[in-house]
Amino acid sequence: MTKQEPIDTTEKLFTRTRVRRYIDWVRVGIYAAIIGCFSFFFWIGSLSRIENMALDVFHRHGGLREADPRIVIIGITEETLDEIGKWPWPRRYHAVLARLLDQWGAAGIFFDFNFPEETRKEDDEDLIRAFRKIRTPLYLPVELKPKKDKKFWIHGFPVVTEENTGKMMWEHSLPEIEDRARAIGHRYLQEDPDGVLRRFSPSLSDGSLTMPYLALKAAETAGPETILKDFGDNRGDLLIPWLQRSGDEAFAKIAVHDLIHSYYGIQKGVVPVVSPEAVKDKICFVGIVSRSGAKATPFGTICPPVMVHAQVANAILSGNRIRIFPKFLNLLAIIALGMIAVFLFVALRGPWSLLAGLFLGAVWLCACFLIFKCLYLWISPVSGILLILSLFIFSAIYAQASGVKERSALFHLATRDGLTGLYVIRHFRLIMNQVVREARIRKEPLSVILIDIDRFKNINDTYGHPAGDMILKKVAQTLIGNIRKKRPFSQVDFAARYGGEEFIIMLRKAELKEASVHVAERLRKRVEELKIEWEGKLIRLTISAGVATLRAGEDIPDPMVHRADAALYKAKEQGRNRVVSGS
Ligand code: GH3
Ligand code: MG
Ligand code: MG
Repeated sequence: MTKQEPIDTTEKLFTRTRVRRYIDWVRVGIYAAIIGCFSFFFWIGSLSRIENMALDVFHRHGGLREADPRIVIIGITEETLDEIGKWPWPRRYHAVLARLLDQWGAAGIFFDFNFPEETRKEDDEDLIRAFRKIRTPLYLPVELKPKKDKKFWIHGFPVVTEENTGKMMWEHSLPEIEDRARAIGHRYLQEDPDGVLRRFSPSLSDGSLTMPYLALKAAETAGPETILKDFGDNRGDLLIPWLQRSGDEAFAKIAVHDLIHSYYGIQKGVVPVVSPEAVKDKICFVGIVSRSGAKATPFGTICPPVMVHAQVANAILSGNRIRIFPKFLNLLAIIALGMIAVFLFVALRGPWSLLAGLFLGAVWLCACFLIFKCLYLWISPVSGILLILSLFIFSAIYAQASGVKERSALFHLATRDGLTGLYVIRHFRLIMNQVVREARIRKEPLSVILIDIDRFKNINDTYGHPAGDMILKKVAQTLIGNIRKKRPFSQVDFAARYGGEEFIIMLRKAELKEASVHVAERLRKRVEELKIEWEGKLIRLTISAGVATLRAGEDIPDPMVHRADAALYKAKEQGRNRVVSGS
């Protein structure tokens, strides 16, 4: 009712609708911003924690990978330590183990430890002698954990020192040990921030010297070299190709003390617990398999590092290593997914867009999983799913908000008169029925004023229809400006266009006298005072008004309106420009 420019409102509504049908730039902009945010977060790795959780699930359900029978774990168990002695062992013990495995025809010996004990010269020489003699390829780890003073440790000895030139130099007291090794490399495993081990580095460098991951080197002996070269190209962290069954069950496992007993037993002619066949042509991963030092796996179990190394070697041997989809391509896939989602959410409405979003998310997740299971290729699925979800939530909120706006604009269009901005009579009747009921219940007075412009036909005839229209607007504004229209809502009066140049006003809490003497008379005076200019000419006009009030016992407005009409008729009869009270 307070809207002064109703025609503009209608035009605005249509203009807005027309534009929206083509491109809604705000909506497009927000979609682009959401996709941009997710791309950014994906790129900087903010979502890696949740991606890792998906990776764990994929690992758990990603199909069985058979353990290669060529791998055997030679475990230093708690029992072994009880029997043979506390760790670290004297170096001659390792010499015995190396000789034994060599004599029994092992295909490779991988030591998952350095030889860190206090050493004696004889022990060193024994170990060097053993290593010199054996033919089995030896794989020896270096400790690549950088210390604060920039030194590295290898086989328990400080080996890297910084020169004046800034170059790192290798110097250690037992080079013969290394000389005998088929390969040296690192065995460093770093858990993710959540404590679960998922990745390994194919090589580590201190800036001047680069060390390969030793298990890769061990697998190289027996595995296809091309795969290894592939690994070499990849400088970043690689995914550990976990066997679905834990290493404990997957690989053949021999305890070191059983092995030693069997070795000496055979020499004494006793039937051995472990036969030489168990290690013949096998790559033997020797390491501590107690619980301490074990790493958390995606399966919720723990795994000794030596078995982690074995699993990486296993992947090389079986050709089932897990590759990581290049990050940039993964990002492009996420952006494409977001664009498809946007297309669906714009094209479809309500439940269909929800279904389409769910379907798209499910297809993406299944595709990522199947690719992981069948091709051993890891594509991060969660960022895409979260992106679809965010786009859907925005779409739903946006659709809701624009629906409300559109509905309120349509409501305005349906209930207001286009020329004057007052209520149309159809809607006014609804309001009137409601207000009459309320007045009856609250026992409050209620009155109506029916107003008709005097000799309006003359104005039309003299100045033309456009002038008549302008006058109708002015009169409507005058009426609106002189009735109560402020809150509280229970005190608001209503005005409507009753017909061509007739208006009706409903006054709440107004007795007949107040309605006629105060309100209607005031309105009549204000209109009379109006000085309207049209094409340089001054137009004066008057109105006649009939007033009526709700009688006791009446619960519909029609009789009251009828009486007001009769009063208006009388006012016209009595010479116009006056207010007549009905009853
Ligand atoms: P009276 O004093 O008896 O009311 O005389 P009157 O000329 O006003 O007579 P009447 O009420 O019968 O005439 C109404 C006129 O109002 C007829 C019509 O041409 C004019 N009219 C109705 N609606 C509109 C409108 O939307 N715009 C314009 N310009 N004129 C209108
Ligand atoms: Mg009339
Ligand atoms: Mg008239």
